[in-house]
Amino acid sequence: MRSRVTGVTGPKFIVDSNVGKLAKWLRMMGYDTIFFDGTDDAQMIALALAEGRIILTRDTRIMKRRLVTSGQLKAILIESDVPAHQIRQVIDTLHLDYAHPFTICLECNQPLAELPKEQAKGRVPPYVFQTQEQYVECSHCHRIYWRGTHWQAMTRKMERLGQNLAKGPATEKSNDAGRDVREAGNHTGLGAAQ
Ligand SMILES: [Zn+2]
Repeated sequence: MRSRVTGVTGPKFIVDSNVGKLAKWLRMMGYDTIFFDGTDDAQMIALALAEGRIILTRDTRIMKRRLVTSGQLKAILIESDVPAHQIRQVIDTLHLDYAHPFTICLECNQPLAELPKEQAKGRVPPYVFQTQEQYVECSHCHRIYWRGTHWQAMTRKMERLGQNLAKGPATEKSNDAGRDVREAGNHTGLGAAQ
């Protein structure tokens, strides 16, 4: 549960374990997001307060906390169980944009920095090195991401998700979103190598 030291401006989040899938979506969009896997609400609240993070949770008890009801701490009660609906609620509520996709490591929430192609040699599969020109590297775990086809597909999905917002309630199609996040995290065909 590391916090980023530097970052793009914009809201920062702390995601409760009951809406954990939101973390990767928000990171993918470039928002500094930490995942809280503890059980002590007070600890999560203290962390949110200390780091100026918005709490995302399905726990109504959090919403009744004095810090939240008084407005000192911002929290959003997530309404749906469906990840795609959850991210749409957050995007819609806060008017999030897609200005900085893939600027944060999906695994550890640290900033990604441009990596010159020659420094990726030997650290990514040969076919990737032959076909990709742009790479970014996580400052913390040193995973390398590249703008492969999966990256492009994810970007399109995110754009569609944003466009769907204008169309009211979620469609069946948007259920794909949860699956995409899992894919992105697993075979990091966003392209990741260590
Ligand atoms: Zn990382």
